[in-house]
Amino acid sequence: KWCDVGDMISVVLVQVREFSKHRTIRVDLPEQPSFICGDEILLEQVLVNVVSNAIKYSPDYSEIVITVTVDENNAKLTIVVADAGIGIPDIDRERIFEKFYRSESSRHVTGTGLGLAICKGIVEVHGGTIGTEPNPGGGTRVSICLPMEVPDALFPYMEQGEVE
Ligand code: ATP
Ligand code: MG
Repeated sequence: KWCDVGDMISVVLVQVREFSKHRTIRVDLPEQPSFICGDEILLEQVLVNVVSNAIKYSPDYSEIVITVTVDENNAKLTIVVADAGIGIPDIDRERIFEKFYRSESSRHVTGTGLGLAICKGIVEVHGGTIGTEPNPGGGTRVSICLPMEVPDALFPYMEQGEVE
């Protein structure tokens, strides 16, 4: 199914609203609406997990920025969730995607360590990748990169204008 990324982010912001009091969440979308082909519910779950982490591991009154970009050939869409929180030590950068792995740095906050493992599985079945890097101003940037091309099976319908 074709999912409007802007709409999905709105749904996610409603879901985390109660829990994101005292955070400013800014959303920066491309001018044109952008669509990815996939399971809306699962992709929203990925975003809820990643945005919840950004909230959970950052201080009250800090800002979270969600930026969506599309590359020149319209082949890839990237969603970056940047927070100004505690950051992820480099030695844990890969391991946080393992089931139940939690960084020592986040001991003071409760969690099961499953969120990102689930996100990685969902992103990979959509042919995408997920990774983290330090946020230049401090904190963490989580990047979710998803292919935008139309799966072969949908082409005949696209030509007949049945799928938007
Ligand atoms: P839950 O299963 O409830 O999501 P969790 O948040 O601990 O628990 P993950 O979402 O899988 O588990 O994240 C794994 C670990 O990665 C976290 O325990 C934390 O150490 C680290 N982490 C994830 N996101 C961030 C972030 N935005 N800033 C700092 N550390 C993070
Ligand atoms: Mg989590």
